[in-house]
Amino acid sequence: MQDKPYFCPNCRSNRVKFSIMSNYSQRFLKDAITGVVEEMAEPVEVAQAEPHIQCMVCNFVGNEMRFVKQAEREPRTPSVVTSTY
Ligand SMILES: [Zn+2]
Repeated sequence: MQDKPYFCPNCRSNRVKFSIMSNYSQRFLKDAITGVVEEMAEPVEVAQAEPHIQCMVCNFVGNEMRFVKQAEREPRTPSVVTSTY
């Protein structure tokens, strides 16, 4: 995951709330006759070059780069306090 600002390219209102979609691999043994799962190993995370990010506002899921690129296109301008003269 990159340490860069995200901006949801779908709803364009969320820069804060996200969820990362990880792939896990979990090995298990099945009984050949009954089909019952007999043994379940610990889940192992599958490394991804580019993780999928979900927007927690509109539930849009996309590659991380889409969120990073959108934030670069429309960077958040720091709110400037206009001083009165
Ligand atoms: Zn969104």
